Amino acid sequence: MAVVVEDDEDIRGLLEAVLLQSGFEVHPTGSGVSGVELVAQRDPDLVTLDLGLPDIDGFEVARRIRRTSDAHIVMLTARTDEIDTVLGLETGADDFLTKPFSPRELRARVEAIMRRRVRDRTAMHAASVRTRPDAAPVGAGEQEPDVAAAPGTAGNHEPVGGLRLNGLVLDPPAFSVRVDDGEIAVTPTEFTLLHSILAGGRTVRTKTSLVRRLRDEDADSGTFVSEADERSVEVHVGNLRRKLGDNAKAPRWIETVRGVGYRAAPAS
Ligand code: CA
Repeated sequence: MAVVVEDDEDIRGLLEAVLLQSGFEVHPTGSGVSGVELVAQRDPDLVTLDLGLPDIDGFEVARRIRRTSDAHIVMLTARTDEIDTVLGLETGADDFLTKPFSPRELRARVEAIMRRRVRDRTAMHAASVRTRPDAAPVGAGEQEPDVAAAPGTAGNHEPVGGLRLNGLVLDPPAFSVRVDDGEIAVTPTEFTLLHSILAGGRTVRTKTSLVRRLRDEDADSGTFVSEADERSVEVHVGNLRRKLGDNAKAPRWIETVRGVGYRAAPAS
């Protein structure tokens, strides 16, 4: 399910048409306040969010949505300043699409996002159920697990298929990150990055490969990665560190390899 928050009628219609074609049930609205309400009511997987809205701006809408939802937020912006991108990422957006965009571009982006979400949940979930005979298996073509149901069950099952490092437990089936037994709320993009970096252990994940991971491409796909793309990864990692309480200078989990990328800190 998707929520479209866009005050321009033509663009709203275009977004709706493309998302319907991609198989989404779509709930459109023209204002920020009603967008926040719709997301809280509908619990969508995807939100497209216009930056310039008549009531509250897209940054504030993203902030409010993040209090209740882990939907993938794609911010639509006519402005391309890096400051907007950074601010947007800090408020909880996952992706940006600059206007004008073609339906094809939007469809490709949305499909990559949904593949990534399904893969993040089901692939790792399938890995963990092999050692959890009590859990129901999840078929590859099945809907991703209901995210809204996850928090209620997160506290009482052992993350067999998860990752552990220095007091942090990353549990893909529950989509949860815990540090010293306290739950940390992260966005889907932050979750994917943290999982990629920690799963790599002491092997460095380059920023380029992380950008491609977020696009659901192979690390060596050879597709173009811009400086702005790499900069978004830096911002996401910075946000992650802040949420985890990690320190770039004396990292407990994410170590920076200057000029290259990131890797997991050594176990201590
Ligand atoms: Ca607008």
